[in-house]
Amino acid sequence: MTDIIKLLPDHVANQIAAGEVVQRPASVVKELLENAIDAEATSIKLIVKDAGKTLIQIIDNGKGMSETDARMSFERHATSKITSADDLFNLNTKGFRGEALASIAAVAHVELKTRIHTNDVGTRIEIEGSKIITQEPCATPTGTSLAVKNLFFNIPARRNFLKSNNVELRHIIDEFQRVALAHPQIVFAMFHNDGEVFQLPAGNLKQRIVGIFGGKTNEKLVPVAEETDIVSIQGFVVKPEFSKKTRGEQFFFVNDRFIKNPYLNHAVSTAFEGLLPDKTRASYFLYLIVDPSTIDINIHPTKTEIKFDDEHSLYAILRSTIKHSLGQFNIAPVLDFDRDANLDTPYAYKDKYVNTPKVEVDRTFNPFDTVPPPKKGASMPTYTKPNVEGWEQLYEGLKTTPSDRTSNVTYESDEVTGDLFKKESGYAFAKAESSTYQLNNKYIISTIKSGMVIIDQHRAHQRVLYEEFLRNITVKESVSQQLLFPLVLDYNSSELALLVQLKEGLENTGFVFGNVANETLEITGIPTSLPESEVPIVIEQLLSDLESEVPDTGFSQTDTLAKSMAKSMAVKAGETLDASSREHLVNSLFACKEPTVSPGNRTTFITMNAEELDRKFK
Ligand code: ADP
Ligand code: MG
Repeated sequence: MTDIIKLLPDHVANQIAAGEVVQRPASVVKELLENAIDAEATSIKLIVKDAGKTLIQIIDNGKGMSETDARMSFERHATSKITSADDLFNLNTKGFRGEALASIAAVAHVELKTRIHTNDVGTRIEIEGSKIITQEPCATPTGTSLAVKNLFFNIPARRNFLKSNNVELRHIIDEFQRVALAHPQIVFAMFHNDGEVFQLPAGNLKQRIVGIFGGKTNEKLVPVAEETDIVSIQGFVVKPEFSKKTRGEQFFFVNDRFIKNPYLNHAVSTAFEGLLPDKTRASYFLYLIVDPSTIDINIHPTKTEIKFDDEHSLYAILRSTIKHSLGQFNIAPVLDFDRDANLDTPYAYKDKYVNTPKVEVDRTFNPFDTVPPPKKGASMPTYTKPNVEGWEQLYEGLKTTPSDRTSNVTYESDEVTGDLFKKESGYAFAKAESSTYQLNNKYIISTIKSGMVIIDQHRAHQRVLYEEFLRNITVKESVSQQLLFPLVLDYNSSELALLVQLKEGLENTGFVFGNVANETLEITGIPTSLPESEVPIVIEQLLSDLESEVPDTGFSQTDTLAKSMAKSMAVKAGETLDASSREHLVNSLFACKEPTVSPGNRTTFITMNAEELDRKFK
């Protein structure tokens, strides 16, 4: 038998390696930014076109490469950063695998221009799918410019796999922010399709955080500092009242490298215990410096995970350091002498954003209204009161606090008038005795002909709202209430990018938007069903639900939007409902297309028939 094992040609090996290193445009951005930092650049510019699908270019003023190095840099396992295996345990650079440029050049059209300061001329190399097309001298400033065009041009499957521009851009912004946060002393700029996204001057850590997340971040930060034998901790945590539902603003850096570490994240979260509003997460920017020989960075190809020798001590130190900072902050406001007065919030806006997420119960809306909303039209006023008598009282029962209750079961047996329980829903109610009870402020119990039904109030209301939103979004028939004073809310650039993508869907639920600029979103109209004070909560929930992935198709976008809004606006467990609210909820649930499950596919009600009851009393 003849021998059959062959070495793969380089360009094939490179393409395979590229699969690991280059998953999407953001991976290229990360690698190139890190190379620029390793080259000791003090100013780095990122230019992106079409979310990186057409162009990713990084221009740095670092040390550049000689002609030979320029050519060598595209070889696999070619690196200037380590020479022996021992160096792996003493890394001070971002890169060390010598794989990035080779991998990128295997799957894109790359143009490199570079010059070292001791040479008068630089080198220009064009390389496409690992093939050198041009190598020539050129005039170029000291430093390196690397342009990556038509990513995955030779791997259509990969290219098709890329998400919408908004999603890919978000990933790029995430990578950019991580690198920029790790290096506040370096000047960074980012442009997308010729528009400026970030312009970050060199500064201290706090100035960098504020530069990225907006001027209002300044007053939200609590400093953290600790020196021990095994770790030095610097940075900031965000005051508990500004915590978010998204996991977005959680940053750990170890030796200037962004990392993800669920264990250390847990340490921070427990330090915040008891201080965070319900369902929110701590935000933080924490910079750990440890001896490079006590960590192992080599365990993950994209290098966001790190192994620590002594994770347990680290956990304990981190937790107590943050507790200490928060404690100090609670007793007396922290005096911050670094504070830049220009970054302070103007007085009038000071209290605008701080809507604590409590549920307002004064809802001016009857979600169970079966009268179709009026059509949108030129002659229509934008604010329309639902045309149902007595609708204002529907939610009054919600105002009752749990302490008003004397027992867990609320009895109500008001005579029901009108055709509340529809026959066509398929659930025949025993109309004459129709009365509902609330159990534990969570379940609604009602009688049906065959026995009884127990309804989960939160899930049921979600179903009702969800179908209503879906209808409104698809039929575009929503009604909005115009706000007397527009709401101005703060979001960071990636959050805004997301919201802009969802604009049309949101408008169809009744939102009306004004200006979108400078990390603020102006809202001039809101759905009639939504109290103004709950707007920030609903949007926060939406951002949190869309955190990882924005659905690309119109349908799933609509669906996500409807689900998310239903979730945040539905009555919660723990809210007392009065008789008419309960009956309307039951009524509307069974008028739904799919009353049996919540939008999240959970059971909304269970039934128990007379025989089952009989069996239990045997
Ligand atoms: P690694 O960063 O792991 O060494 P890369 O493939 O990213 O591998 O880069 C290969 C080599 O090319 C680097 O070791 C460095 O010597 C050189 N290089 C890459 N980018 C730059 C840059 N922007 N400026 C100067 N040298 C660079
Ligand atoms: Mg590198």
